[in-house]
Amino acid sequence: MGKLALPGQLGGLAEIATATSFWCESLLVEGIAVASVRLEVDAGGRISRVQPGVAPETTDTRLGTVLPGFGNAHSHAFHRALRGRTHGEGGDFWLWRESMYRIAAQLDPESYQALATAVFAEMLASGYTAVGEFHYLHHHRDGEPYVPAHAMELALASAARAVGIRLVLLDTVYLQGAIGRELAPNQRAFGDEGVAGWLARWKSLRSRLADNDLVTLGAAVHSVRAVTPDAMRNVFAGLPPEIPVHIHLSEQPQENADCEIEYGLTPAGLLDSIDALTPRLSVVHATHLSDDDRALLGFARVTVVMCPTTEADLGDGIGPALALAHSGSPIALGSDQNAVIDPFLEMRGLEMGERLASQKRGRFAPAELLTAASTAGYSALGLGRHRLQPGDPCDLVEISTTSVRTSGSLPEQLALTASASDVMRVFVGGRLVADSGQLIGGIRPAALMTDALQRLALRQAD
Ligand SMILES: [Zn+2]
Repeated sequence: MGKLALPGQLGGLAEIATATSFWCESLLVEGIAVASVRLEVDAGGRISRVQPGVAPETTDTRLGTVLPGFGNAHSHAFHRALRGRTHGEGGDFWLWRESMYRIAAQLDPESYQALATAVFAEMLASGYTAVGEFHYLHHHRDGEPYVPAHAMELALASAARAVGIRLVLLDTVYLQGAIGRELAPNQRAFGDEGVAGWLARWKSLRSRLADNDLVTLGAAVHSVRAVTPDAMRNVFAGLPPEIPVHIHLSEQPQENADCEIEYGLTPAGLLDSIDALTPRLSVVHATHLSDDDRALLGFARVTVVMCPTTEADLGDGIGPALALAHSGSPIALGSDQNAVIDPFLEMRGLEMGERLASQKRGRFAPAELLTAASTAGYSALGLGRHRLQPGDPCDLVEISTTSVRTSGSLPEQLALTASASDVMRVFVGGRLVADSGQLIGGIRPAALMTDALQRLALRQAD
């Protein structure tokens, strides 16, 4: 891979000292503001002690109002290249997908790494401390594997390490273009030699990433469109049981119709028929569900990852998030196509969709919105508990409560008033990684993005 020239100096994170103790003027724990809280952090970046209602000690890093870091449970980093470039076309998801495929065809490991570095930088500066990257750009555009192996996956890992975000790489099985159809020419980069080929590649990749605590490997099935039930069964059987698995589900009515014609079942019903509905599974979107689908997902405690800004942008519809939560499904949030990177707008989108559909306010409580954006996202990504308790990762986000947007807000209601512009200091594993919109060292995410998009433009011109 060619040398990646970045503006400023990235890659110096290892030299940044990890704070060993914090004092928070106000810490929101499960959505409840607790005053004057000291946190001690162990050498592994995990919280070792929590003391509410105490005075700061001289060595503490002093913070204002602090939330648990946000967990972005669904992202396709490369879709960011389409931001602000598709609104003149009209159409629907399927037309947008053609534009997305054109970007996919232009990416190679170097340009993918540059773009992902910029996207992950924007996420960190916006308060996301962890991201699940739903990744299927595996190979050259003709389907030939890269040499050396895993070049695209390692490009994502390098991007995450360079900026300091936690990455769960959800390597995705994508074996057919639609139900009963081979991969189209513009989908060949996504495929593998059947489930056995995908599993072999997944296991090899896992060993390559084993020594990195910031980057872990999860798994995904693209959708019931892209993988047959038999193949899905083999995917679940072939993975270690602790590995989280994600899948796009019922984002479009067309997927439901095709699935019912071929299998006589809804996509959720099909997953149930192969015993795939378990708490390890997260379904993304779940926009067009029957009452039975909702009950199946909720009963099995399957997490539902809603992507409100993307679903609104693409005109997908409003998914039954509250009904799913009442059925038993944890609700997490994702930025998906990254037309917007702002955890506050995702929380607001979730609640406002419910209000518009029901003509009532207060559908999700502010504490529930914060849980969806942080704790539930971490859990869906296999990152364990994230409630700012001893043993939890010390991933923190400081929010300005004196900006023009947040001044006067109750701390518990910041989910409904703040924006990414109000994010101040961001810590991952106790280490400062961003402050007031910039990465440490004063590196601006916008500069990284400009550089990455120029690389893509040059490639388009070749
Ligand atoms: Zn997606």
